[in-house]
Amino acid sequence: MSDAEPPSEPESAFDPAEPNTGEAFEPVDVFPDSTDFDLRPGADSCYKCSTCDTNCPVAEVDDDFPGPKFQGPEQWRLKQHEDDYEVDDSVMDCSNCMRCDNACPSGVPLSQMHNTARGEYVDEQMSKLSVEYWRNRILANYRTSAWLASKVPRLANAAMNFGPARWLMEKTMGVTSEREFPAFATETFREWWERQGAATGSRERARENRKRRGDPVDADKKVAYFHGCYSNYNTPEVGKAMVRVYEHFGYEVVVPEQRCSGTPMFANGMLGDARRHAEVNVSSMADLVEEGYDAIASCTSCSMALRQEYPELFDIEGIDEVAAHTFESVEYLRIHEDLRGAIGAAELDDGLEAEFAYHAPCHARNQGLDRQAVELFGELDGVDVEDVGDSCSGISGTYGWKAEKYDKSMEIGEEMFEHMDEADGETGMTECPTCAMQMEHGTGYEIRHPLELLSAALVE
Ligand code: SF4
Ligand code: SF4
Repeated sequence: MSDAEPPSEPESAFDPAEPNTGEAFEPVDVFPDSTDFDLRPGADSCYKCSTCDTNCPVAEVDDDFPGPKFQGPEQWRLKQHEDDYEVDDSVMDCSNCMRCDNACPSGVPLSQMHNTARGEYVDEQMSKLSVEYWRNRILANYRTSAWLASKVPRLANAAMNFGPARWLMEKTMGVTSEREFPAFATETFREWWERQGAATGSRERARENRKRRGDPVDADKKVAYFHGCYSNYNTPEVGKAMVRVYEHFGYEVVVPEQRCSGTPMFANGMLGDARRHAEVNVSSMADLVEEGYDAIASCTSCSMALRQEYPELFDIEGIDEVAAHTFESVEYLRIHEDLRGAIGAAELDDGLEAEFAYHAPCHARNQGLDRQAVELFGELDGVDVEDVGDSCSGISGTYGWKAEKYDKSMEIGEEMFEHMDEADGETGMTECPTCAMQMEHGTGYEIRHPLELLSAALVE
């Protein structure tokens, strides 16, 4: 056979047109009550070592919380054996920090089990008329409240932190009045992006930067930015830093249509809402991935949702391709650029704090990104980024906003607060917007995203 000849089709041992038994094949449904995603292999891998329980920050401060082993493999087994088994309501006390996933030596998909069980609990057992349901739903759909607030940001900022209004929100809805509401930006990231000429403006700037760098002007460097809700409505400076840093390295940035990543919805068992948002995100990103773009998130919980939780929980066309092409913003540059070299040659703006107390979010740990900021900025002259340890910040998105969880959230965060106090720097750093809220709340420090330091060092 010549090289040009196609290989012949191998002979099939099984011809469906002629079954060798003469009987039609009947598939056997071994687990008729299981969800679409069969978690049995994961549950079977649990050998009850309890490592997950000892790594659970909620179990450490809440004696009534039975821990991840019970929430995951044990409840799953009970459900398989008892037809009328009801999910235990303690699943609502799990903060979805996902530390148990990382801790398990046997690869049990604990957070997937928790998310599935929580979704079932909310759908089938939680009263849709209860205050808890509506409080959780409003917190989980932060994007909707933030969108409304962004229409009148100054008024919203004043109203949300008006003492009597906060007192009323705690008494009627169970949203803690202990925390300051984050300020809404007077110009959202997307409004700023439009003013910069959006994708067309980015292409022009990226090309200029390629010329400056001596790269081919037509280099295929293009990314789709998933900014998430918080960078859009509250901290547009993070999104601006992302665009500036990526364009500096010659990347064309596009900012596709997007909704919430779903992170707060998973944590509150609102899987229907999460799915609706995921469908928009996957659809936007899948078209771009097909055109050669990679999806970049500046929030580590957003990158976690797109690359892990979506394929674990949903069956949406294009989801695997999007997951495989999703990266956290600094991670992507570390992979594709000589970031250390660029940082080593950079000089920092005099006005920027040179010592930072860095907290790695739990969701960054799950993606293996917990050391990247500390190692990377170790190369930056005059800057010290000190890791404040591997404890959980305690806020876990909406968890620390619930009045009945506030004290536990602060107790979990205590170790991080102490280490921040002991660190030399009096500015905090983290990639997660809600960890940033907790860091600021517990220490009074201003908190920066690593992209802001990168932008200050490389671009501004
Ligand atoms: S760490 Fe893994 S194997 Fe050990 S009890 Fe937890 S789920 Fe089971
Ligand atoms: S996700 Fe976090 S809070 Fe929930 S069970 Fe696991 S370790 Fe505990």
